[in-house]
Amino acid sequence: MSVIVQKYGGSSVADLERLGRVADRVASTRREGHEVVVVVSAMGKTTDQLLALAREVSSEAPRRELDMLLSVGERTTMALVAIALHARGLDAISFTGSQSGIITNDRHFDARIIEVRPFRIEDELSRGRVVIVAGYQGMSYRREITTLGRGGSDTTAVALAAALAAERCEIYSDVDGVYTADPRVVPGARHLPELGHPELQEMAEAGARVLNAEAVEFARRQRIAIYARKTGDRHPGARETVVREGAPREASGVRAVVGDAQVAWLRGPGGALEALLQAADGAQVPLRELHTDGRSFAALVPLARVSDWPRARGLFAACGVSADEALGLVSVVGDGLTREGNVVASVLAGARAVGGGVEALWTSPFRVSALVPRAYLDPVTRWLHARWCEAPAPA
Ligand code: ASP
Ligand code: MG
Repeated sequence: MSVIVQKYGGSSVADLERLGRVADRVASTRREGHEVVVVVSAMGKTTDQLLALAREVSSEAPRRELDMLLSVGERTTMALVAIALHARGLDAISFTGSQSGIITNDRHFDARIIEVRPFRIEDELSRGRVVIVAGYQGMSYRREITTLGRGGSDTTAVALAAALAAERCEIYSDVDGVYTADPRVVPGARHLPELGHPELQEMAEAGARVLNAEAVEFARRQRIAIYARKTGDRHPGARETVVREGAPREASGVRAVVGDAQVAWLRGPGGALEALLQAADGAQVPLRELHTDGRSFAALVPLARVSDWPRARGLFAACGVSADEALGLVSVVGDGLTREGNVVASVLAGARAVGGGVEALWTSPFRVSALVPRAYLDPVTRWLHARWCEAPAPA
């Protein structure tokens, strides 16, 4: 029998009615004859609410205790889905991350999976049970409870799909797959029926809220096919995005335009760089696009990955490093972009056209990214999408 991993995001289980519909869908997949592992997120905005609670108690909550608290969200969902499946006459059992054998490093709030030992899941599948797994959490090799970073249930799902040699990994959310831009920002965004792992990974790393970047990296390394679907879409022919190895490329190098408003831009004198690196390491703040000419340096912080930004910002200020939070990052994603000098030129032209200007810019074959004033982020994103991803109207 083939194993199918299905992951349901927070909005798909936001209330009991929706959770019931998820149980219906799981039940029908099981009755089609598949072995089913279901990875669930916390209900609705639960994770945000738990974080807010912790911050009300203290602005300096220890990361270990944050993980103890946040892991509760997914645990609630897993038990409720298992109960709902029993009510539908299916034998189901729920497991926490640690019971599922998700072993991580010992970094709290943003842990990495280092090994998966899914023995208990395999046993239960062979007994004919549906297994429900709490996403976003694991256990460190020191037996501490850890969480995998925001959106980490995707990573749980892909890691389990790999460890179980699943036929595929289905990711259900409130959108029917991946688009050439965020449709909430760019009305003309096009649905992408097929995509390669590297392109999706670039989009995720550029800050697209599609799939967790680590999850895509995992899927790429382990060659797992991902099917991104909308939870309610059950009819045959419903739209989906299939992410797999060797997906055909489009003729144009540009595939998508991504905007990320959650960034901070650090700058300081060259002499402060080592102190900053130490502070960032201590506060577990990831630094991107770090560069220095000796006299000064700059680096980008992806704020979604930082558990306590006000505290980190204070530590950085004490090192003489400033943090600009009034900028946004726009990225053009594709393949062979540095061969086409006009992608870079278009980013400069787009920023100028909307009146913003560019604070900094980087190029790689797969991505051209620029920092622009945050107020111009959405207009530049729309401008670049119209330039590269929308067919000109027929004459
Ligand atoms: N509940 C976690 C979050 O909101 C993990 C996830 O949804 O994947 O980030
Ligand atoms: Mg969530």
